[in-house]
Amino acid sequence: MKKISIVVPCYNEEESLPIFYEEMQKIVQEMHKEAKFEFVFVNDGSKDKTLEILRDLAKKDKSVRYLSFSRNFGKEAGIYAGLKNATGDYIATMDVDLQDPPSLLIEMFHTLESEDYDCCAAKSTSRNGYSFLRKTFTKWFYKIINKLSKVEMVDGARDFRLFTRQMLDAILEMEEYNRYSKGIFSFVGFNTKWIEYENTERVAGTTKWNFWKLFIYAIDGITAFSTTPLTVSVFVGILFCLIAFIMVIVVIVKTLVFGDPVSGWPSLACIILFVSGIQLFCMGIMGLYLSKTYLETKKRPIYIVKETEKDLK
Ligand code: UDP
Ligand code: MG
Repeated sequence: MKKISIVVPCYNEEESLPIFYEEMQKIVQEMHKEAKFEFVFVNDGSKDKTLEILRDLAKKDKSVRYLSFSRNFGKEAGIYAGLKNATGDYIATMDVDLQDPPSLLIEMFHTLESEDYDCCAAKSTSRNGYSFLRKTFTKWFYKIINKLSKVEMVDGARDFRLFTRQMLDAILEMEEYNRYSKGIFSFVGFNTKWIEYENTERVAGTTKWNFWKLFIYAIDGITAFSTTPLTVSVFVGILFCLIAFIMVIVVIVKTLVFGDPVSGWPSLACIILFVSGIQLFCMGIMGLYLSKTYLETKKRPIYIVKETEKDLK
């Protein structure tokens, strides 16, 4: 019988966690003839009762395992830790808020078993439960990142997927510090089938993302999977040199032929401001990549575990 590992990052999820567990038990029951389950919950430094709930679950259910971080390391670190510790033949990543309908797992499992796919992933056709601003910016983000990056990022893709151990091994080989799951999954390749569904709102609790966090996450995604912004800044530089060269010629010709000295300090000041703005912008882009390289070379751990179910007495 195949074993399915369910990797679930949790951050301050005391309200959603019990509901998630109950819902998942229904799926476990439904699939008990076909597959065994293992839950790998990752407590990402929650400040509420999430860890206590996980301890209780692990005590009464042997299929529940958990890792508890020493502090909040972020969702990507949580997913990575869970994946590293998963032992199943198939591995699923899911959010705990039930925005990813557990019933899709059955369909995903059957797809992997009977068809020639390595991964089955969920894609939401709508973004119910998110603000208008977030919806608009997300749409634009996908447009931009897909122009900039060779790795395809699917709009609406959730971090909800089921995939084979072979694909997991490929993912774990990518040991980068700046982890951007959607890019990593796309980068490793393999055959992915997309299942579309209508997104729902969280069962309980609130989203852990605010606008600023998402903005930083978007920049992380772009810098992790594209160096095009650097190339663009080179071209902007060249373009400005050309414009400057043409302007110099115009000024010389005007002075020599027409004896007309150039006037206009205000326009000069504007040009200086504009060009130095562009310069700072391009330097900022370079700085972003440099800072990412800096963090990678430090080889800091992606997460630090403080407690697991093995520590339970
Ligand atoms: N999460 C996490 N660490 C964080 C933020 C979020 O482990 O620092 C988890 C969270 O508990 C949930 C999942 O990531 O299981 C998705 O978070 P959320 O539902 O807030 O994101 P959204 O659905 O709004 O994108
Ligand atoms: Mg959510």
